[in-house]
Amino acid sequence: MKLTVLGYYGGYPFKGHGTTSFLLQEAGFNLLIDCGSNAVNELSQIINPLELDAVIISHYHHDHIADLGVLQYYWQLNSGKKKTPILPIYGNTQDPLNYARLTMQGVTEGKSFVDYQPLKVGLFEIEFLRTIHPVPTYAMRITADDKVLTFTADTDYFNELTKFAQDSDLLITDTNFDSMKSGRKWHMTAQESGELAKISNANQLLLSHLPQEIDHQILMNEAKTAKGDGNIQLASDGLIINI
Ligand SMILES: [Zn+2]
Ligand SMILES: [Zn+2]
Repeated sequence: MKLTVLGYYGGYPFKGHGTTSFLLQEAGFNLLIDCGSNAVNELSQIINPLELDAVIISHYHHDHIADLGVLQYYWQLNSGKKKTPILPIYGNTQDPLNYARLTMQGVTEGKSFVDYQPLKVGLFEIEFLRTIHPVPTYAMRITADDKVLTFTADTDYFNELTKFAQDSDLLITDTNFDSMKSGRKWHMTAQESGELAKISNANQLLLSHLPQEIDHQILMNEAKTAKGDGNIQLASDGLIINI
């Protein structure tokens, strides 16, 4: 699997960099994971967005779907050759209004996933785990060619994540806080990201959903201390990780 980061901020874009979105490629199949702001712009530097095979959305917060509407327009207005006549967009049905928006007649089609059943999308086998977040949100464990990518999506730390992410070749975590964070939270600290990687025996750790107001090097150092090794990267636009 080949992962390319298209956006990595939490909440809102900042100084030319967008919010959560990743392109995952395997044997010519192009899967877009979340579609935050600036995602279409970044994607178009790598592939023609018409070459997407499918899109999957972890949850319907704006920083994960901001560019979905313009991606639909890209598919509607562009006369280029599409890989598939109608682009499938996978999401949960627990928010019916947002789920309905995944479908644009003749352009895209909303398709549902559930957390009790693995989903097959192209060559990817995807398992889901409901996370701790204010709206229904799903972590994804994606397997292809005997490699495993786990994406926590947005979540506070909780114990089930360690089993869900077990032995991932790459673990992408929602790292929105440093250790100064106190009180109720809906995202993880860098230390929790590092601990999750260590306990679940993840090979590589990618810190994403980064904050705008905290020095990312501080997050890196806290995660390194917790993980116990240096196999950690900060997400950045265009960063490629071969899994
Ligand atoms: Zn978010
Ligand atoms: Zn969220």
